[in-house]
Amino acid sequence: MQTSTRNSVLLERSRTAVWHPCTQMKQHETLPIIPIARAQGCWLYDCDGKRYLDAVSSWWVNLFGHAEPRINAALVDQLQQLEHVMLAGFTHEPVVALSERLSALTGGALGHCFYGSDGASATEIALKMSFHYWRNSGKPDKTGFISLAGSYHGETLGALSVSDVALFKDTYAPLLRHSAQVPSPDWRKAAAGISAPEHALRCAQALDSHLEQHHEKTAALIVEPLVQGAAGMAMYDAEYLRQARALCDRYGVHLIVDEIMTGFGRTGTFFAYEQAAITPDFLCLSKGITGGYLPLSVVMTRDAVYQAFYDESVTRGFLHSHSYTGNALACRAALATLDIFEQDDTIAANRGKAQRMTAATRELAAHPRVSHFRSTGMIWAFEIGSTDPAFGRHFFEAALAHELLLRPISGNAGNTVYFMPPYTISDAEIEFLAARTLDILEKLS
Ligand SMILES: *Cc1c(COP(=O)(O)O)cnc(C)c1O
Repeated sequence: MQTSTRNSVLLERSRTAVWHPCTQMKQHETLPIIPIARAQGCWLYDCDGKRYLDAVSSWWVNLFGHAEPRINAALVDQLQQLEHVMLAGFTHEPVVALSERLSALTGGALGHCFYGSDGASATEIALKMSFHYWRNSGKPDKTGFISLAGSYHGETLGALSVSDVALFKDTYAPLLRHSAQVPSPDWRKAAAGISAPEHALRCAQALDSHLEQHHEKTAALIVEPLVQGAAGMAMYDAEYLRQARALCDRYGVHLIVDEIMTGFGRTGTFFAYEQAAITPDFLCLSKGITGGYLPLSVVMTRDAVYQAFYDESVTRGFLHSHSYTGNALACRAALATLDIFEQDDTIAANRGKAQRMTAATRELAAHPRVSHFRSTGMIWAFEIGSTDPAFGRHFFEAALAHELLLRPISGNAGNTVYFMPPYTISDAEIEFLAARTLDILEKLS
């Protein structure tokens, strides 16, 4: 391996000192680690000055591009005032303002915000809070959780317990609590001749049967609304969410909506659940909440849940904390992110952008090796037929050679390639992404 470039030096140091996530480190004997020196807009630049279009928003977190001037300015301003203070017994303007604004975005329905540091901790908080609500309400037997087949809610032990991605879960199964999985409304799995809404209804019937039998021991159903990300961008009809809400109400089970990926406009509405005109009991947010700048998560809930904890007794209160809960810098980045949604009318602007992406990818969608081309809001995905067991890695490498950051998801459903770009992707960048992806397909054929 060459050692003369700045890239090689940093990647060698990284290979030695950094244990990278979701990675078999031995693969980095041949697969390069890309040392990123700086980033601007949709582009990442490595230490040798090569560029990569960040078509996956740096693991689904970035909304408005890298080095966004307004978020940068807000953070610099916040740094002059308060970087952090513990949130037990203390508070500060950014966390209060963020809670008020997030609550307003739910129409005031979810008026209480509990903060964590990342997506997985939000899942843990929602699960614990749901269980504790039932316990405080005289139903201590409601300890079970249900999730969808193929679901992903994070990788700490509690979150992994309600996830259903074999690669992440199987090894750690002996450490996990049992949870039940019901069929996913993923329309790729619909029987021939069955429409997406019909398929959603059939899956809702399976949920109904499960709840009918198990509701007395079930605290909550947790779902990724409209798009199950790690399952391979599995998309489904909003009808399922309407049915799930009605069933949870009928059987006295909470509905936890995990919008860690789908929140903040990713599916075309500010929250994905809006497309089903429902309100969850718990809403988990993270990833895009800070525009992709800083780790922050929040679980939002209804007043009725909050009131069940409000008591003289300490142990009826919610017993959970993270050191960096409600970090002022992260909250300020989140406020700047919400400002941009208003200033740029992002949800409306994204509609035009989505149409241009769909038009630009027409040839790709019709490619003989591509199947199930689909999109929801600002997410596009398709399957590529391949017999290569290392397809994902090979595609990733080919993409880098084409100045693209693309990271396919390989699993039961096949090899899913997806685009989840920052909302600020330009028309020229859209054309670039579509054309280069076609090139890669030809090269890998
Ligand atoms: C990423 C993700 C999580 C976990 O978030 P982390 O910050 O990676 O812990 C949970 N749920 C969904 C739907 C996600 O996409």
